[in-house]
Amino acid sequence: MESMIEFVHQRIKKHKYQNGIDFTMGNGHDTLFLSDYCHHVYSYDIQSLALNNTKELVKRKKNNTKEFIKDKKNVTLFLKSHEYFDEDVRDFEVGIFNLGYLPGGNHECVTQYEITLKTIKKALEHLVKGGCLYVVVYIGHDQGKESTNLDAYFRTLDHKLYNVAKFEMMNKNNSPYVVIIEKR
Ligand code: SAM
Repeated sequence: MESMIEFVHQRIKKHKYQNGIDFTMGNGHDTLFLSDYCHHVYSYDIQSLALNNTKELVKRKKNNTKEFIKDKKNVTLFLKSHEYFDEDVRDFEVGIFNLGYLPGGNHECVTQYEITLKTIKKALEHLVKGGCLYVVVYIGHDQGKESTNLDAYFRTLDHKLYNVAKFEMMNKNNSPYVVIIEKR
């Protein structure tokens, strides 16, 4: 079975979008992926290491050779918290939150549920009808605070306005899971 993020990518691959947002840039894998399926990608992180790693990734050939090709012109990287995304982009069709800490970076610098929740609420206002928000949630990094608070919020979303689904491993404790929110 594919990983949670592979599952997200498989779903996104079926479409072409105008605007995509990577709310948690990290090492840039989701940003690079989205750039193949979106006219433009807006990508956010609060760590300069994430920005530098992603800059390198989006100009490296996808087949992992050392050779560099022209920078991806349809990607804009922002060194700022995702809660301010609406300063840069109004409407979008696809967004990814891949929560937790930067792999290979400072494990203290993790997504904070208050900010994540605030940003998801704002993101749903800017998501176009038919668009999807994907949230990959890790239970371990903050004793499950983010997961508990987000799940409680997702359950309150009006089913007439949103389809909300959860994809999770049923036979493994504390494994990451994906929540998909589709605006109807
Ligand atoms: N999508 C990434 C990739 O493809 O490599 C992985 C993301 S990583 C699990 C989570 C990232 O969220 C970290 O790099 C962290 O710095 C970032 N982050 C934490 N709080 C943030 C915030 N308020 N705004 C934007 N990014 C944030």
